[in-house]
Amino acid sequence: MHNHLDASAVVRALSPDEPVILNRPQAAARAARFFVEKFPGKSLYAVKANPSPDLLQVLWDAGVTHYDVASIAEVRQVRAALPEATLCFMHPVKPMAAIAEAYAVHGVRVFSLDSQDELDKIVAATTDDAGKVAEDLSLCVRLRVSSEYSELSLAAKFGIDLADAAPLLQATRQVADCLGICFHVGSQAMTPFAYVQALERVRAAIVDASVVVDIIDVGGGFPSIYPGMEPPPLQDYFGSIHRAAESLPVSYSSELWCEPGRALSAEYNSLIVQVEKRRGKELYINDGAYGALYDAAHLGWRFPVRALNGGRNDATEDFSFYGPTCDDADFMEGPFQLPAGIKAGDYIEIGMLGAYGAAMRTRFNGFGTGLVETVMDEPMASQYCGTRRDPRVSDNVVSLR
Ligand SMILES: *Cc1c(COP(=O)(O)O)cnc(C)c1O
Repeated sequence: MHNHLDASAVVRALSPDEPVILNRPQAAARAARFFVEKFPGKSLYAVKANPSPDLLQVLWDAGVTHYDVASIAEVRQVRAALPEATLCFMHPVKPMAAIAEAYAVHGVRVFSLDSQDELDKIVAATTDDAGKVAEDLSLCVRLRVSSEYSELSLAAKFGIDLADAAPLLQATRQVADCLGICFHVGSQAMTPFAYVQALERVRAAIVDASVVVDIIDVGGGFPSIYPGMEPPPLQDYFGSIHRAAESLPVSYSSELWCEPGRALSAEYNSLIVQVEKRRGKELYINDGAYGALYDAAHLGWRFPVRALNGGRNDATEDFSFYGPTCDDADFMEGPFQLPAGIKAGDYIEIGMLGAYGAAMRTRFNGFGTGLVETVMDEPMASQYCGTRRDPRVSDNVVSLR
């Protein structure tokens, strides 16, 4: 693996006929430092967004000590890569054997749950052979909250309804050393108000259950920048969350946590693809729906693009992409703006694929392989380069007091 200046330098050096994932370690490190320094609490990296071992190391080196893992495979992988990291098993539905292995073998003490059944499972799986119940568990009850301000809903599958939360919080308090409440407002939350509203529900849950709460975990959802999706600056999110959390009736020693996946990884990767055929406004490229462009195909998500050779000063036109597999669904509608004269053989860089892009690649149809190179230029968009100042939302926060 070499360090290149940018995507064009990679194309000049390699003329790649396979897709090339580009790593930008300095962008990921900058994002991590931003959360570590500016979020008013602890930041857990949500590993599923991008489990690349190189990225995990970059985040660790930049000060991220806690990792949100969702499967036993992620537990094992992160434990092997980062022996000293704190792992938090935040999937609310886990196999018994996964809980037992995570607790006994990998030192996991933080688990989330959203039902009495899962609580019983966690207690059983962490009780030792002599029948001694674990006394060092941090258990976070996942509350269902609205996803209405997010581009990607996470409201349907997990989380206990506020109306049913009190008995579960009380039962969890009985067995937990630390009791937490967590939620997820949905991915790519476009306004800080999503968190303010969710924290209002947390307040109601605490009041209803009359329990002492030690951890408030506001989950993921922190946005990145994509064409047509320009969120307010992250400082606005942190400020709103801080104010809303400060006013909750929690124990004086309680901690505030967050679980960014997208925001810590989106800027880490872009992708070089080659145009293999042009048919009018459709470009047949060598990566697609079963590769790193899953969200572009299945959610109609638009990613920033640029042509890497020639024609860069041409007028642009809107294009759609077909991926390399034989499946009609391997189609990314876009629109993607590229030079009007783009043709077979040309290369394109597709940006902001570090979150749920590089991690989604499959081997379907024999594709999904390719190169990985490191580049030193800026990502195509950044929440962290110091140029984002947009006070739109900061004056617009609903006070909780
Ligand atoms: C996916 C997930 C995250 C990360 O969400 P982003 O929107 O990528 O920040 C955090 N926590 C949990 C429990 C998740 O499932």
